[in-house]
Amino acid sequence: MVSSEKELKQRSNNQCELCGATDNLSVYDVPNAKVMVIYACHTCIEQMEDSEKIEANHWRCLNDSMWSEHIPVQVVVWRLLFKLKKEGWPQDLLNMMYIEDATLEIAKSLMDIEDEKQEAIHRDVNGVVLSSGDSVILIKDLKVKGSSLIAKQGTPVRNIRLDRDNKNYIEGKVGPTQIVIITDFVKKI
Ligand SMILES: [Zn+2]
Repeated sequence: MVSSEKELKQRSNNQCELCGATDNLSVYDVPNAKVMVIYACHTCIEQMEDSEKIEANHWRCLNDSMWSEHIPVQVVVWRLLFKLKKEGWPQDLLNMMYIEDATLEIAKSLMDIEDEKQEAIHRDVNGVVLSSGDSVILIKDLKVKGSSLIAKQGTPVRNIRLDRDNKNYIEGKVGPTQIVIITDFVKKI
């Protein structure tokens, strides 16, 4: 495991491992993975640390750095591409990128931690992200609190609302009745 700045300088040929810049370089601790470090320039670090400063075009450099042989660089590149994928071209690079399953798992798990920090993300039983207005089906019979109603497995619930305070709950109508449902019991359709 590379740790010292000296080793990083050697590994990176004194260049930002993301964009190739040669100025303002410093050691960047991959968040939530303190054992992983990359050598990166001020511009890259600033944008990684503050999503609002992201300029998608700066990250065209990932086109090259995605081929790095170094796992910490691969993890960071994958996460950045994933974050930017709505731009289109990052999705193409993700499809092309060669990344070992184990490395991909690290990248994904770190990203989940970041996401959860940012906001409460509602996910269905399969981990699919739920948004307001989505439709789901119930994956088991649920007794509706405060009534004799049983909402049957397979019942669709349309136009759900997310509980802002608790990512484990959504609301929606079963027939005429508004109910609160635990996200573990629904599947997005
Ligand atoms: Zn850079």
